Amino acid sequence: MITILSGGTGTPKLIQGIKEIIDESNLNIIVNTLENDYFSGVYVTPDIDTVLYTLSDLINLETWYGIKDDTFITHEKLKELGCPELLRIGDKDRALKIQKTILLKNYPLSQVVDIQRKQMDIKARIIPMSNQQSTIKIMTPKGEMSFHQFLIKEQGKVPVDDVVYNEVEPAPDMLNIIENSETVVIGPSNPITSIGPIISIKGVEKALKKVHVVGVSPIIGNSPVSGPAAKFMQACGHEVSALGVCDMYSKFLDRFIIDSVDSDLETKIEKLIKDVTITNTKMRNIGDKVMLARTVLGEIV
Ligand code: GDP
Repeated sequence: MITILSGGTGTPKLIQGIKEIIDESNLNIIVNTLENDYFSGVYVTPDIDTVLYTLSDLINLETWYGIKDDTFITHEKLKELGCPELLRIGDKDRALKIQKTILLKNYPLSQVVDIQRKQMDIKARIIPMSNQQSTIKIMTPKGEMSFHQFLIKEQGKVPVDDVVYNEVEPAPDMLNIIENSETVVIGPSNPITSIGPIISIKGVEKALKKVHVVGVSPIIGNSPVSGPAAKFMQACGHEVSALGVCDMYSKFLDRFIIDSVDSDLETKIEKLIKDVTITNTKMRNIGDKVMLARTVLGEIV
């Protein structure tokens, strides 16, 4: 079994490549839940939904959230009624979020996601990192704000002083799944708000130390390919580079994959971990994704 730790943009791109080269039923995907919250009365699990839609080929590839070719009738009507939404939720996407909200009355999140992925005929297991609700605060000179307030309302433009979130329990069986994996892949996702929350859960670091772990840098040169990772890393005292990311994961990382433009960092990274691979990590098309997936799983497939 291969286990992937995922956020909502970079890692799902890699998952598209991985599912082309191995049987999906051999995959466990542990997904960040830090950004889960209620919007317009429905429970939104941004990274889980992106992974669900990626594996069912429904994902809107332009935005990396929501369903392709969706309509926005409810969203527009809400605006007209004087209830504008912070998130732009499509109609089909909203139906799945409503289903999740209804199911959550009777089942924990891990079971709700399992019901949905089976309905979508997804063979990979999708495991929310926790069944508990996280709270995240982005500390800024304008005061503390929620993740979505920072990213959408403020468009990620305000400076960030710190990122703070609470401790949550691991999802049932999650530590077992990690310990029994042939390889754990830490995908190229935000190290502070996507991967950090998973590895900070009690027991995860210890479990990762027992297995072969390969990571892919989400930072190319001195910036992320997308999203607010640079601001968050800086605020939390990390260098914004592949070296900075490697330093965060070095306690349990066996191999790190960095981009060709960062080849000058090889010697420094080799001081932290024994195995560094240099290749193209920018996934512009399915060819790039499959090529990177082959590099990540090179020893297995
Ligand atoms: P957020 O968008 O920052 O909230 O976090 P996500 O975990 O959803 O993923 C965003 C991360 O994916 C960013 O840090 C990006 O640098 C990374 N990413 C997106 N596309 C690529 C890519 O093609 N290659 C690599 N190496 N990283 C990528």
